[in-house]
Amino acid sequence: MTSVFEADTVLATIQATYETEQEKNKFETEWKDHVQTRVAGWMSARRGKQSMSNAQLTFNANVVEYVNFVHKLTKVRVGGSRPLPKEIPLLGPRFLPPTYFHVTRRESFPQIKLETAYLLPLTVIHPFYFPELKVCPQCSSKDASLDSWGNSGHREVHGICREECAIGFQLRCGRCAEKKGPDGRTIRHCFSTTSKQFWNNYNFDLIPGEIPIFFHQRGFTRELFDLIIEIRPSSTLCGLERNIKQLHLREYKKNLKRYEAACASSASSNFPILEMFSEQDDEAGYADRSITDEMISDVYREYSKRIREGNCTENGVRISTPSEKQCMIPNVER
Ligand SMILES: [Zn+2]
Repeated sequence: MTSVFEADTVLATIQATYETEQEKNKFETEWKDHVQTRVAGWMSARRGKQSMSNAQLTFNANVVEYVNFVHKLTKVRVGGSRPLPKEIPLLGPRFLPPTYFHVTRRESFPQIKLETAYLLPLTVIHPFYFPELKVCPQCSSKDASLDSWGNSGHREVHGICREECAIGFQLRCGRCAEKKGPDGRTIRHCFSTTSKQFWNNYNFDLIPGEIPIFFHQRGFTRELFDLIIEIRPSSTLCGLERNIKQLHLREYKKNLKRYEAACASSASSNFPILEMFSEQDDEAGYADRSITDEMISDVYREYSKRIREGNCTENGVRISTPSEKQCMIPNVER
């Protein structure tokens, strides 16, 4: 499910459910403090080519705050969950940032900022949306507990026309935490839902459709992943790479036009100044990185490997999921 997430509107909607002004103010102050603290923490933890866009991190931190809120409101101590009250909007797990349309409809004097065009969709991989994921991917224990959001924030995810991002939660397995490896040290017992390790034992076809496919260094939207495994056998690596790059370029030009149109339509406002739209690959701006032929090759190789490792039967491929259930999927023509 995809939702446009307008942080101020969501905050105001939830605030309206409190009765007193004091409660409303307290809720708003705490929400904004949490967002600010989270952005500062992510900024200091991010490394290398990870996005440092304050606008993106702030958008993501607001989404996280919303997910924390609805999760807290619906969780119960032992299994199951409570229904989310009708007054609270149910959004996600894929959150789209507001566009210039939202800005011009919400503000008397719309602030047409470049950063609006640079913001990327965010998918949240959290048990609020996917309760079935509360299982240790290593030992299948259902005693795994939620630990925290990833320290450094989101992971970048490649898409068909545009890059996206995803943020996951850390699961902590109590059973694995008590085990020792050959060297006498505690074995790995924390797994992020955006890590390759978490999804290693899953058959790709059994991963919920909204969740990107994660590899060691990068993630892929489900749509891009499906496109690669379907088209790769009948296309060359370079040809497929070129087609996807072309789709990215078209989307980049569309976004540039949308920015120009938004500036033109708000020429009478206080912010009519047309700024220089960034280059497509500018890390501090649009930051678009389409996939390479090497990545396409990696995706297809991993897909083929997992299919081969399955125990083929007459009707399908028998796959062990982390919950140790045996699931049947149809044989794939190769
Ligand atoms: Zn475990």
